[in-house]
Amino acid sequence: MQHCDITIVGAGSAGLTLALLLAPLGLQIRLLEKGPQPQPGAADFSRVSALNLASQRLLAGLGVWSGIAAEAAPYQQMEVWQADSFGRLGFSAAEQQLPALGWICDNQSIRQQLYQQLSQHSNVQCLFGSGISRISQGDQNVALQLESGDLLLSSLLVAADGANSFIRESLQLPLTHWDYQHHALVATLASTEPHQATARQVFWPDGPLALLPLPDSRQVSIVWSVPPERAQTLQALPAEAFAKAVTAASQSVLGPLQLVSERQRIPLRMRYANQWVQGRVVLVADAAHSIHPLAGQGMNLGLMDVAALAELISEQREQQGAIDCPRLLARYQRWRKSEAQSLILAMETFKRGFAGGALLPKVLRSIGMSLLDKQSKLKQPMMALALGNSGDLPKAARPAQPGSDAALG
Ligand SMILES: Cc1cc2nc3c(=O)[nH]c(=O)nc-3n(C[C@H](O)[C@H](O)[C@H](O)COP(=O)(O)OP(=O)(O)OC[C@H]3O[C@@H](n4cnc5c(N)ncnc54)[C@H](O)[C@@H]3O)c2cc1C
Repeated sequence: MQHCDITIVGAGSAGLTLALLLAPLGLQIRLLEKGPQPQPGAADFSRVSALNLASQRLLAGLGVWSGIAAEAAPYQQMEVWQADSFGRLGFSAAEQQLPALGWICDNQSIRQQLYQQLSQHSNVQCLFGSGISRISQGDQNVALQLESGDLLLSSLLVAADGANSFIRESLQLPLTHWDYQHHALVATLASTEPHQATARQVFWPDGPLALLPLPDSRQVSIVWSVPPERAQTLQALPAEAFAKAVTAASQSVLGPLQLVSERQRIPLRMRYANQWVQGRVVLVADAAHSIHPLAGQGMNLGLMDVAALAELISEQREQQGAIDCPRLLARYQRWRKSEAQSLILAMETFKRGFAGGALLPKVLRSIGMSLLDKQSKLKQPMMALALGNSGDLPKAARPAQPGSDAALG
């Protein structure tokens, strides 16, 4: 039997970031991951995430940003438009006096950089290939029975084990969920025209297609969300026919496209845990909420969860030494639930706002978008949301001082 202060289950972006945030506090931390340890290697961009300024600041503070940015593509413009209409919205970094609106980062590269940094902390023990068979709680401890037969006790257990969280399900924490009736097709395509550091998204009545710029100026990662049957058909098409379909759906904005990777198909579900805390167990990131990728916010939201949790743990350690779970976790839950709810609502409004092809709503949407595009004051709240600058940010993700983002590389 082993004992530690905090066990984190799941070494995705959220679990690794939390471990790294907590490491300097001198606590004994264990990070359990059922998969293999992240391996060094060049980014292949098979799965990418658009990280916003708030995440950038957090990761920079942890000393991992330069490594992530070295393999990422900054984007200076965002263009959002409605297919077959005149509705269009544009955002630019120059307008905001920023060097970039965000970065398209390779998911594996994010994990690899975090893990490499974490290996320098001897108080954090990482156990890879470690599945869990059982969880139980007493007044003082949470007990985890590993598949290997080992028993681990800890004062606090953090579930960072993703959208299908084993911990959330084992504790039967209530979950609100619905099927978005979309599967996301993810692939890399080579373009004829350079992407010009612009993240693009075109909304069709049956779902959005995002074209995310990669470091190669003629390559984009696409996230194409369509109804499940259509996604299956598109995935089964020969490569050339698929590329033609993406070219048509992108309205040839980058000229003819060519498929240069495998296609992945990911079913999309909204999940929101109604209860994030039970005793000494707390949910973070995708274990607590998973949202539609149309605005590229899921990972950003999860990183803010762990930054908030680490901030509260650190504050409490300074004030009273020990971790007082009920008070601490109740504060965390209040704080982060309201942030997640706001984002889920915004995503739903977006998704429903663009669904359906009826003529009148389409014309109204087009007029609305065109008016909005001309009103920089009205665009500002949308911009703040996209940059991650809205809501109650954890300290580690706030700008050091007004204007300090202008110096970001
Ligand atoms: C198509 C698509 C595009 C997206 N694009 C963006 C984007 O542009 N920007 C953005 O911010 N977000 C984006 N997201 C969301 C983002 O990918 C997720 O929010 C984020 O990866 C979740 O991180 P996590 O660490 O919570 O979970 P995960 O990355 O799922 O990590 C969970 C970890 O826990 C481990 N695990 C699971 N069960 C156990 C267990 N029982 N024991 C031990 N370990 C376990 C898993 O192996 C995994 O390593 C996108 C999502 C999708 C589907």
